[in-house]
Parts: sequence; C-alpha cells; structure tokens
Amino acid sequence: MPSLERWVYAFGNGRADGSAAMRDVLGGKGAGLAEMANLGLPVPPGFTITAKLCIRYLESGTFPDHFREEVDRHLKQLERTSGTRFGSSARPLLVSVRSGAAVSMPGMMESILNLGLNDDTVGGLIASSGDARFAYDSYRRFVQMYGDVVFELGKGPFETLLEKARRRRRVQRDIELPADDLAALAREFKAIIRARTGKGFPDQPEEQLWGAIAAVFRSWRTRRAIEYRRVHNIPDDMGTAVNVMAMVYGNRGDDSGTGVAFTRDCSTGENILNGDFLPNAQGEDVVSGTRTPLPLSRMRRGALGKVYRDLERIATKLERHFKDVQDIEFTFERGKLYILQTRRAQRTGVAAVRIAVDMEGEALISSDEAVQRVPPQDLDQIFHPMVDPGSPVTVLARGLPASPGAAIGEAVFDADEAKALADKGRKVILVRPETSPDDFHGIVAAQAVLTARGGITSHAAIVARGMGKTCVVGAKDIEVDVVRRRFRVNGRFVRRRETITVDGTTGRVILGAAKLALPKVGTHYAKLMAWADARRRLRVRANADTPEDAKRSREFGAEGIGLCRTEHMFFEGNRITAMREMIVATDEIGRRRALAKLLPMQRRDFEGLFEAMTGHPVTIRLLDPPLHEFLPHTQADVAKLARTIHLPVSRLKRLVNSLVEANPMLGHRGCRLGITYPEITEMQARAIFEAACRVVARGRRVVVEVMIPLVSHVEEFRRQAQVVRRVAQEVFHAEGRAVPYRVGTMIELPRAALTADELAKEAEFFSFGTNDLTQTTFGLSRDDAGRFLPFYVEHGILPDDPFQVLDRDGVGKLITMAVRLGRGARSELKVGICGEHGGEPRSVHFCHRSDLDYVSCSPFRVPIARLAAAQAALEEAGVINRTRATV
Ligand code: PEP
Ligand code: MG
Repeated sequence: MPSLERWVYAFGNGRADGSAAMRDVLGGKGAGLAEMANLGLPVPPGFTITAKLCIRYLESGTFPDHFREEVDRHLKQLERTSGTRFGSSARPLLVSVRSGAAVSMPGMMESILNLGLNDDTVGGLIASSGDARFAYDSYRRFVQMYGDVVFELGKGPFETLLEKARRRRRVQRDIELPADDLAALAREFKAIIRARTGKGFPDQPEEQLWGAIAAVFRSWRTRRAIEYRRVHNIPDDMGTAVNVMAMVYGNRGDDSGTGVAFTRDCSTGENILNGDFLPNAQGEDVVSGTRTPLPLSRMRRGALGKVYRDLERIATKLERHFKDVQDIEFTFERGKLYILQTRRAQRTGVAAVRIAVDMEGEALISSDEAVQRVPPQDLDQIFHPMVDPGSPVTVLARGLPASPGAAIGEAVFDADEAKALADKGRKVILVRPETSPDDFHGIVAAQAVLTARGGITSHAAIVARGMGKTCVVGAKDIEVDVVRRRFRVNGRFVRRRETITVDGTTGRVILGAAKLALPKVGTHYAKLMAWADARRRLRVRANADTPEDAKRSREFGAEGIGLCRTEHMFFEGNRITAMREMIVATDEIGRRRALAKLLPMQRRDFEGLFEAMTGHPVTIRLLDPPLHEFLPHTQADVAKLARTIHLPVSRLKRLVNSLVEANPMLGHRGCRLGITYPEITEMQARAIFEAACRVVARGRRVVVEVMIPLVSHVEEFRRQAQVVRRVAQEVFHAEGRAVPYRVGTMIELPRAALTADELAKEAEFFSFGTNDLTQTTFGLSRDDAGRFLPFYVEHGILPDDPFQVLDRDGVGKLITMAVRLGRGARSELKVGICGEHGGEPRSVHFCHRSDLDYVSCSPFRVPIARLAAAQAALEEAGVINRTRATV
C-alpha cells in the first residue's frame, strides 16, 4: 500500500516534527514555530496543517479521510501535553487557528482565536483564571471572529453591537465593559449569526475547529489576498498552511499584553529593538490598528521590565539564528513571555541596504550575502524624493514615520475611489482612520497612505513598507470622517481631493504640494554598490538623450550610454520647425536646406553627451520614428506651420495626409528613413563626428558607437553603414584628426535575429531593442497592448507583461540564437540590450546568462541593473544566501 501523505506536524515543549527548512510545506509561520520550538524558545504547543492541503481542499471542497484522523491524533497529544481537554468544563483546551503561507502576506488571510469556548467551557475558563470579565471578553471575541471569518458576515454587524454596548455604559474602550455586558454580547453575536445565516453557532469544539480550518483555507482566495499576490508576484498555487496552537492570553490584566517587535528599525535600518505593544489585549488589536499601541520602549522600565529583557534576549537569539531581521509577535500572560511567530521583517529599500551592510560589519553575513540580500527593485526607494528641507511648509499634523519618502496627492477617503482616480492618472493619498487588509487595492493605487490611528506595526505600516510606499500612521490630531469624506485637524477641514503632502521620513502631514528634493545617498549604499560592482560581469549603461540625463546616469553609476534616441532632440524649441521643414520638403535640395539648420543643434547635443561621458562609450541611434509623428495635427498647428514655411494650408494638409500610414510601427521608420533619404543619415553622422572631433580637440577621450535602427536585411545595414563611414572619413579629413568609432545594428526584428550571422559580418556591435523585438515576435502592438495584456496576465495566459519582463522562452530564444550566430561570424562582437528590459532584474539575470556584454536602461534604473547583474554573477558562482528565510 502506498504510504499516506502527511498533513500535520506538531511543535512545542522543546521539540518539533518540522524545521525552518520546511517553509514550503509548513508555511512561514509553521516553519518558524517549529524552528523556535527546536531552539527551546517559549512557544505554546500546537500543530501545523500543510499548505499543500489548502489547494487540494480548495479544489475538491473536502478533506481526505486520514487527515481527519491525523488531526484527532494531534489534538489528543495537545490535550495530553497541556493538561486540558477540548470541551471540558473544568480545564478546557482553547486554541488559535491561524493562517501562514510560505511567503509572508501580512494581514491578508484569516485567523481565529479562543476556539473551543462555549457556554460550558467558558465556566472552566472563569474557574481557571478567576476572572469572569476576561473569560467573557475572550468568548465574545471568539464568536465575533468566527462570525466574521467562518460565516463570512464581516466585522460590521459585530462592531455595531459593540459600539452600542460602549455607548450604553458611556465607556470608550471594550476593556471597560463589565463581564455581564460581554456575556450578553456573546449571546447577541450568536443571535445575529443565526438571523443572518439561518444557521446556529456550533457549540462543539471539534465542529468549531473544522469550520475554522476550512475558513482559513478559503481565505487564500479572498480578493485582497489575490491582489496582494499579484502585486508581490506570489504564485496562486502555493496555498496557506494552518497553525492550531494552544491559547495564551494577553488580555488577563495589566501584567499581560501583546505586541510586535522588530529586531532593527525597518524604516531606516538602524540597529535598535523597536515595535509596539498593547497591555491587556489580544494580538489582533495590535495588527488591525484599531487601538493605538504604545512603543515597545515603554516596557523597559517598571513592572514589565523583566518581560522586556526576556524579549530582548530572545530577539537577539532569533536574529543571530536566522541571520536576518525578525518581526516577532509575542504575548505575555501574567508576566510570562510567549513567542507566537517570527518572520523575516519587511523593510524599506533604505533599511534593506543599511541592514545588509551592517550585518556584514557584524560578521553575521558575508559581503556576497549582503549583495544578495537587497532586492534590486527596492533600490528605487533610495532615490525617493523627500521634502526639500529649505522650503517653507504648513504642517497640519504629525504621525509616526512608517515608510519614508514624500508624496503629493489629492486626499481620498476610500480605497475604491483611490483606485478609480489613480486609474484615470490622478495622484492620490489614501487617508483612513486605520487601514484594513480590504484597503489593499487602494494602498497599491495611492502615492502614500495616511492613517489617524495605528502604530508602526499596524497593517497600513507593514503593507506600505513592504511596497516601499510612503506612509504616516497614528497621526492622532487628525479626525477622519469617512462618510463626509474629509478630515479635521486643529479646527480646519481638509476635504476630498484637496492636495496634501505626506512626509514618511519625518511623519509630517503637510497642506498643499510641498517642494520636493532628491535625497543624498549614504555610505551604506556606496559600500553595497562597490561590492556589487566588484562582482558583476555585465556592464551597465544608460538610455540618455540629453547631457543632463547623461550626467545623472553617471551619478547613478552608468558606464556609458547604450541608447541615445536622437529623435528626442528634435522636439525642442525651434528645432521642430526645421524638422517639419525637412519633412515637407518635396525634393532633396529642400531637405538638405532644412537639415543644414538642424546640424549645428544636433552637434551641440552630441558634444554635451560626449563631454558628460568622457572616456565611456556613447551609442547614438540614427533617426527611428515615422516622420509624420513630427508633423502638426491640430488645425491651429497646421496654420502656424504653413505661415512659417510659406506653404498654403491646403497644400500642407495634403502633404501631412500623404504621410499618414495604416500601421506606422511597421511602416516608414527606422533605417527605412535613412535608406530612402540618405541625406538624413549624412547629416546625423556629420553632427556626430564633428562633435566627437571637437570634444577630442578639448583633450577628452570619446568612444563613438553609431547604431542603425530597425534593420531586417543585411543590405539595409550595409548601405547605411557605408554612408556613416564615408561621412566619418570626410569629417576626419577636414578636421585633421580621427576618432575611434564603431557602426552597429539594433536587433529589433525577428528577421535580424534569424540572420544575425550575416549582419555580424558587417556590424561591429548588436544592441537588442527588446521593445520592438517583443512587439514583432508576439505580433503585439506595444501601443495597444494595454487594452488586453492586463487580462492575459491576470488570467495566467502570460506569466508577466512581456514588455516589462523579458519573455525568455520566445524573445529570449531569438536573443540567444542571435548572440551565438553573431559571435560565430565575428568573435569580438559586442552585444548589449537597450529595451526597457535592461533595468528589470529578472531580465538582467537572463542577459547575464546569455553572456551579453552590457545592459542599458533608464538612468534611475542603473543602480537596480548593477545590483541585479551582481546577483546574477553570484548565483552563477553558486553563492547561496544563508538566511534561514522561513520567515
Ligand atoms: C526597442 O525597440 O527596444 C528600443 C530600445 O527602441 P525604441 O523603444 O525607441 O523603439
Ligand atoms: Mg525600437
């Protein structure tokens, strides 16, 4: 008989069936609990149901038979070790049932606490605790959570009844309600469940447990969980594990409480234990942000000092063991500390860099590991703008700086509205009393999040930090009125769609649009990038069209320009007029006259680029887009141009119409322009080489690469290269000096890739224009794909948008083939990529594996590409990251 699959793993009392290595099976929480139990840390005993069962259950709607037996067996074991029993009115076993996927999804799935309570067992809890208020508080919480999660009634109906009870007693907080009220609430909650669902509340603990397990599994498929996975690229078929654990109580008086601690500051990276706690409360109160907790440091002195020291000791042990910053959930009951969860802490990009570099300094990790630790995309956040320190601002309120950077936007008070406005291109700030996981889509859409309540570990803070989104929480002076869609602060109102600035670095909420500035990068960043640069094989260049962009890209560490789109130079000032004159000229003489006006302007631009990039290669691409893109389209523009170039409007209109193409992306563009009008190529080549000679004459080194776009046939390349080389000779002769240069081709069309060997006989370098190569390989218009590509990705037809992440199986195959054919024909052929993919980490990995010489991307993505290239090299060398990344 085949052995039956194991679905349940126990932990507690100094041992566990699983370990940190079993994250895929037990989920992050389950693996962390197992590891902590093995380390002898104070973890309440329990068992984990594997994530694999989740998907099986969601697909079949039933549990396998032997699974029920396994759960029964583990329950018996739990009863034995805890000296309690399910359903016992003397010593009842009470458990929490909590979700936990392999990849942390904070607050996205469900949990139920105090399971096992009913009208009998609550008596047992009163007897064992001697505290009726506590017992009934636990009972009403259980029924409330069960109604919300298992009966799927949401929080609303229960909150309304609680609010009524508070009002009746004229108290602010639930903990001020007496035992009788709490007992009555538990009854009312059950009544509302029956009224709304037609079903009775289950009194049998076993039945409660099965309902809870199924509901936690189902929560894998809630809208917010699906949306979270989409944003964070988490596979849908992973499922969540379920952890069933003996309850410990943080709501047993002032020597009890619950909280979340981070072993370092996850906003700045500073090495200090920090977090929040709530005395006399259960875990959900902290995470949900419904009560504003106290900073952890307040535990240090006084009655809770011992708990704090225990926590400090355990936090250090966990960080050293897992070799990464931990986010630890704890509860203390009557002065005794329990650890309920430890996981790898989410952090901002700034913190990620500092933590990795500091940990290397503390000999916790190697410099290789430090380089691997930082997600390249997160470097983006280091360059988040901040409020210009020198500019005056009107500060409305201050809150906790939960995630740094500054963002400006219109205040909105509802997640759906945030999304709707953002879809229309508006920049919005989501303002909420507190956020809940249901607001996730609004957080994604907003520039920043602002909450009136909640601490540094509240849902909004954790989620925003994970996304590198600016966030201020707990701005206490703000009263958010969600219904009227406004907030009140110090006697003034800020209404819906009024502009505010949120400063997540200092915690300020500012009226209007503050002036923003770019931050200076620190020494940690410099150190990390130096390590990365020493490890990568791929060179990194920038796509830059102006001297300013070129300078900026040098600051970001670019080692040259991989793509200068010369057409961008034609749009400025009076250049567009000369350009239009060239386009509408009816003969070569007219075109040459107009081109002569453009020549000095282009030359000046190129000089600027060569100056900024001294000694580094500069790849200049000849004119690419179809000519009609430069022509005027509105009546007024046509009339203006007609006056300037002395053409009758009707004539000009006819000319403009004659240039319209049915499919311009596949029309008269790229090298086809230079082939039909070689004088354009001539002018551009002349501007390039004259500029190069002038800069060399000023004592600078210049490395010129001239690139022919959209080549499909070698003969196109041959003819264009001939023009470029002839002009180069003419210029060098006239200037009396020569400048080293190469002529190469873009590979943007499948035919170019297929005939790369032919092309390499003529071309000295290849640059893969993967924007067009993706477009033409898929036969998918890059300008129209927005209408249907998101659907494709959402429904799993394509794993990613191929214009963002390189399609390795299709486009990638063309690239590797072209590299092989090209290098076969010319061994010293230089090969790079200059499509948008050049700054996307997974695509950079592909470029490394395909043995390209360089990637080229927009200036802001240069650091991302540098780090991704280093990680690709480390991965190839087999350097593994020793984070025990359960967690
Ligand atoms: C490309 O096609 O990838 C490319 C870099 O050129 P452009 O985006 O200008 O078409
Ligand atoms: Mg292109």
